[in-house]
Amino acid sequence: MTLSNTVILEVDGHEYIPRDIHFHWGRNDTQGSEHSINSRKYSLEMHIVCYNSKYGSVAEAKFFKDGILVIESVEVGVKLFWKRKLCAFNLGEFLNVDALRKGSFVVYNGSFTTPPCYEDVTWVIPLKVNSIDKRKMNFFREIQGLDGRLVDNYRPIQPINTRKCLVG
Ligand SMILES: [Zn+2]
Repeated sequence: MTLSNTVILEVDGHEYIPRDIHFHWGRNDTQGSEHSINSRKYSLEMHIVCYNSKYGSVAEAKFFKDGILVIESVEVGVKLFWKRKLCAFNLGEFLNVDALRKGSFVVYNGSFTTPPCYEDVTWVIPLKVNSIDKRKMNFFREIQGLDGRLVDNYRPIQPINTRKCLVG
């Protein structure tokens, strides 16, 4: 999903423009997120990919240390069943803006999670986990890919190495 250039985030004196929102999820509620919080993985993770406005695009910005910022949000599936088939999403449901406002987040320098996994991505991880109902979670799990159901489209947890995580 591509976003318009109308929203600008100011972080550390830089202007970041959200460009892309995408999701990673698993076949069941014990997997799907690319990050874990206190060693726990979650059923779904949303990424909002933003680029530094001074570089003009994600393609340009990805080569620079201050080029890319990704805001992520993890979700845990809960056992609620809905009868209606239609599935509408309000993106506000997926991101805990309150946690960001209150400084309840972690920032670290990592990489893209898809090949070629460029380094120099600033990750912002809200520490409050949202919930997603079963119906919406199943909507993701029923999406068809080239080889059948598209599930487990996440990168395994990577070693932290010498990275430092800063708590907001
Ligand atoms: Zn991603």
